[in-house]
Amino acid sequence: MDKLSDQQLFKQFSYINGSWHSSETQLEVTNPATGECIARVSNSGITETNMAIKAAKNAFKMWSEKSANERAKLMRNWFDLLMQHQDDLARILTLEQGKPLNEAKGEIAYGAAFIEWFSEEAKRVYGDTIPAPANDKRIVVIKQPVGVVASITPWNFPNAMIARKAGAALAAGCTFVARPASETPLSALAMAELAERAGIPAGVFNVVVGDDAKGMGKVLSEHPDVAKFTFTGSTAVGKILIGQCASTVKKVSMELGGNAPFIVFDDADIDAAVTGAIASKYRNAGQTCVCTNRILVQQNVVTEFTEKYTQAVTKLNVGDGTIEGISIGPMISKKAAKQVDKLVDESIKAGAKLVYGGKFDSAGDNFYQPTILTHVNNDMPIASNEIFGPVSPIISFADEHQAIQLANDTEYGLAAYFYSRDIGRIWRVSEGLEYGMIGVNEGLISNAAAPFGGVKQSGNGREGSKYGLDDYLEIKYLCMGGI
Ligand code: ADP
Repeated sequence: MDKLSDQQLFKQFSYINGSWHSSETQLEVTNPATGECIARVSNSGITETNMAIKAAKNAFKMWSEKSANERAKLMRNWFDLLMQHQDDLARILTLEQGKPLNEAKGEIAYGAAFIEWFSEEAKRVYGDTIPAPANDKRIVVIKQPVGVVASITPWNFPNAMIARKAGAALAAGCTFVARPASETPLSALAMAELAERAGIPAGVFNVVVGDDAKGMGKVLSEHPDVAKFTFTGSTAVGKILIGQCASTVKKVSMELGGNAPFIVFDDADIDAAVTGAIASKYRNAGQTCVCTNRILVQQNVVTEFTEKYTQAVTKLNVGDGTIEGISIGPMISKKAAKQVDKLVDESIKAGAKLVYGGKFDSAGDNFYQPTILTHVNNDMPIASNEIFGPVSPIISFADEHQAIQLANDTEYGLAAYFYSRDIGRIWRVSEGLEYGMIGVNEGLISNAAAPFGGVKQSGNGREGSKYGLDDYLEIKYLCMGGI
């Protein structure tokens, strides 16, 4: 942290109603690459969560009554500051989360892009006029911000998961309470510091840090003053939170787990497929919900693909993300690395063949080697679970029909990828895959202009794009009579 050029970005307090709030106890933030304690952040809880909701409620009238242009200007300032401090923000992110510095810089730019995008979309919250069935009436539709928004976000994208939600919420005219994962609160607090410098008024953007996930989650999802609840995390926790939101019939959006298939057909450009699979699988050491989870390869090209893919994987360097040239950082914890190792072991016992890796890495306690398994089938633990680690299970299939059937054989439906050069097949497969997002000859699909989200048990709602504001707006219908 002493290498930051702006030390004021390193904050260890919750940010509530425009003030930094200390608590009696503290939680330690550790660097997953070294195990070293890098910060002791005030450990807020239920009381502070209630305070933040109250602050957001009080700020709502003022913020929602600002013109779209005024909100857009302040958000644009925020975007500019995030980009000006990209290097420092990336360093904070790598130190608390582990991903290589270059990837962390990419996440800061990606997160900031949502603030920029929604600063522009703020001006395009259009309503409607509708031809009325009777001549003496007129029908008008206006859109209004839903109110206070509460969010809970995970540790794998400590900046971008908040930016995606807060960008849309603030643009719509909502106020926001963020509860970041307690493993990675520092990126969220640095965002709050920059929101304040950007001129975003007190109470509009609040960050409450604490390790009582359940207690704080209950308040955020049940509080009557919270109008909308948005969550990114596991499907299991998402289900609990949806249940809690029912008590006050909140608007809910959920971005949950995935089990992304990456399909390589025999007409594909195999080299391009290898590049796409590496990008989609090994980003963030495999710890993203859109990471490739299963590689499905048509049986007549499985040998060629596996050889080329293994060659590419041998070039990936494992280590501390602050070191130049590292492509795979640590898992978030030893527990997470052990879980990945367990899935690998169990699948080998069930008949999978280990082609590469398969062990903890000597770089440190939380590191796992990039790993390739072949002869996998859809029922093995490595294919049926969300891996969240650097393991590539390869499954072979006979034909297009079987590829789609295998790909859809999961309760998840977030991202899917496939490589083919046949235009008819591209349409058939795109339409046949039960997923919210499809990469066609592309392994990296997420950006601010596109609607991010899943179907089935991967969640509901969309983040980013022109659709991203919908979750933060109410439609109000005005019937004008006596005309
Ligand atoms: P991940 O595997 O990404 O850690 P989780 O769903 O466990 O997925 O965590 C995502 C976020 O949800 C984190 O901020 C975590 O602290 C929070 N969380 C975990 N359990 C609960 C819960 N029962 N109620 C509210 N939030 C929770």
